[in-house]
Amino acid sequence: MYLASFSHGGVLKYGFRTSDEISVIDAIEAEKQLYSKAILPDTLQGVIDDPEAFVRLKELSRRESEVIGKVIHPLSDVVLEAPIPQPKRDIICLGLNYREHAMEYTTAMEEEQNLPKYPIVFTKATTTVIGPNQKIKSHRHVTNKVDYEAELAIVIGKEGTNISKEEAYDHIFGYTIINDVSARDLQKQHSQWFLGKSLDTHGPMGPFLVTEDEIERPVKLDIKCRVNGELRQNSNTDLLIFDIPTIIKTVSGGVTLKPGDIIATGTPKGVGLGFDPPKFLNEGDIVEVEIEKIGVLKNIVS
Ligand code: MG
Repeated sequence: MYLASFSHGGVLKYGFRTSDEISVIDAIEAEKQLYSKAILPDTLQGVIDDPEAFVRLKELSRRESEVIGKVIHPLSDVVLEAPIPQPKRDIICLGLNYREHAMEYTTAMEEEQNLPKYPIVFTKATTTVIGPNQKIKSHRHVTNKVDYEAELAIVIGKEGTNISKEEAYDHIFGYTIINDVSARDLQKQHSQWFLGKSLDTHGPMGPFLVTEDEIERPVKLDIKCRVNGELRQNSNTDLLIFDIPTIIKTVSGGVTLKPGDIIATGTPKGVGLGFDPPKFLNEGDIVEVEIEKIGVLKNIVS
């Protein structure tokens, strides 16, 4: 299923994309049509929290052809929001998790050029999250080095601690796209990356939350970023230094992962910082992150 949170007439809703890919179905309203007893929660996060609700949503998706009328919204009539517009916890992020990006980053930051021996893990504030087509603020009073990072994000579906690599995929609800927008000067100045990664609007997410069953294991998806149409990043998630099972094993080691937790898996080569001279983002720039089988996440810098 291709799940989405969306606004229609100013009201936040959620649902799934139709099989012809041109509409979304309002899950709660569709449930009212097809079931006498409604159990779906108010938000997509609620579905992730409740296995019974997830089963109901899957049934609804299978019965798509029985749904009629105004609960089917053409994508052109809705505003897609981040699938999880208000995550419960900060987004967990992997740093320097593609070989060539690790080299470009450490070179540009004048740091020691070693690939990480262990996954580098940091977090990004929940308040960074915006949806597709929303504006990335440039925050000129604190930074003049705003950069993009195309990333595959994992959404956790089942709580777990000390998850083994073998069990890792069983804990995944689905996948989405995150642009891990980064203020490079703040990253450098403050040593720890939280501030540089956490400016408001610097966490575009979407357009869809694609359920785990839709994506073949191991996950090998083309990942790209274009700025004003220029291809800057072009790689494949198969090139992650620490793969998805390793990431989940590591971040759940002694730390409980909960349904709805989001893990951004790192970005490939081609960030603005890596160019000589650097190509940081400017007001008016259009940034598109594309991941095969998930979609295109487009935002404008303001
Ligand atoms: Mg990143």
